[in-house]
Amino acid sequence: MTDFENETEGAAASGDAAQDVAAAQAAMAGAASHITIPRGCVVLAATPIGNTGDASLRLIALLEQADIVAAEDTRRLYDLAHRLGVHVPGRVVANHDHNERDKADSLLDEVEGGATVLLVSDAGMPTINDPGLAIVRRAIERGLPVTCAPGPSAVLDALALAGLPTDRFCYEGFVPRKASDRTQRLRSLRAERRTIVFYETPHRIAETMDALLEAFGPDRSMALCRELTKDYEQVRRGTVGQVRQSVIDDPPRGEIVLVIAGASAEEANAAAPEAVITVAQAARLAQERSEGEGVRIKDAIAEVIKEHPLPDGSLLNRKAVYQAALDAKSSERA
Ligand code: SAM
Repeated sequence: MTDFENETEGAAASGDAAQDVAAAQAAMAGAASHITIPRGCVVLAATPIGNTGDASLRLIALLEQADIVAAEDTRRLYDLAHRLGVHVPGRVVANHDHNERDKADSLLDEVEGGATVLLVSDAGMPTINDPGLAIVRRAIERGLPVTCAPGPSAVLDALALAGLPTDRFCYEGFVPRKASDRTQRLRSLRAERRTIVFYETPHRIAETMDALLEAFGPDRSMALCRELTKDYEQVRRGTVGQVRQSVIDDPPRGEIVLVIAGASAEEANAAAPEAVITVAQAARLAQERSEGEGVRIKDAIAEVIKEHPLPDGSLLNRKAVYQAALDAKSSERA
């Protein structure tokens, strides 16, 4: 266990005693039956991200009354319905990343005919790193109504708990898996002033913390939020250096959201690329450095490229700069 001053743990314990749950279910089902759901409409509904008690009355009403339930995983949908004590009389169909584009039109034909299509993912808000966007886009194209029954989503839960500025933030989805993509993405965020939110998995968290240290340095504030809304909810708040050490000392399990403070004005200035340069300019700078400092042209090119990242964090192509340096040399000779 880590010893952060700012760590909070276990605060989300659900207190799911069996008799309490049964009584709550009965009360919820009664209350939900008074809720009217929209007809001839697609409804995206958020589902709990760990604590069944976070299911909204509208979600329950939709499960009980929708004509069709398009679920990311039908088994998980029935499991949720069972935990909520809800009967799902509508047709349940699978709607996942691999089939959602093909499925969209047939589901929307049903909407056109007056059906209510409820769309849910395994946890949290559909479309947020989950299926759902294809049907939303297609509904907009076809001029069909689409609405939302909002609720739990790990992004906002973590952001609210992190204790970092919430007035401006950017959601970056999952940290890229591939090391080179991860480095580029984080590099592109060095000058980002807004609070940054990333999703992560426990088996990559150690590499990601190394990459965060490399990109933002040890002193940037951050929070590692895990198992939100569950019995073992934990928020580790500290600097990148401290949180990284805690990950080494006590590897976190379960689902993780990382919230990282945005750059201060000084950090943003220091991190901003000095100036975007062209391949020809990079070749000329490298040539001058090579001649002035007596370093090999290849090494000078590598240095210049690294010092001048492009705004998206990527680097100029080394071969192209080398070729430009060769061309410049041969035109000097001619
Ligand atoms: N649609 C979901 C939402 O609205 O949050 C996100 C789905 S995405 C496939 C799953 C990722 O969300 C997890 O790998 C984790 O990063 C984050 N996540 C989901 N539930 C979480 C929880 N209870 N605690 C922390 N992170 C969670």
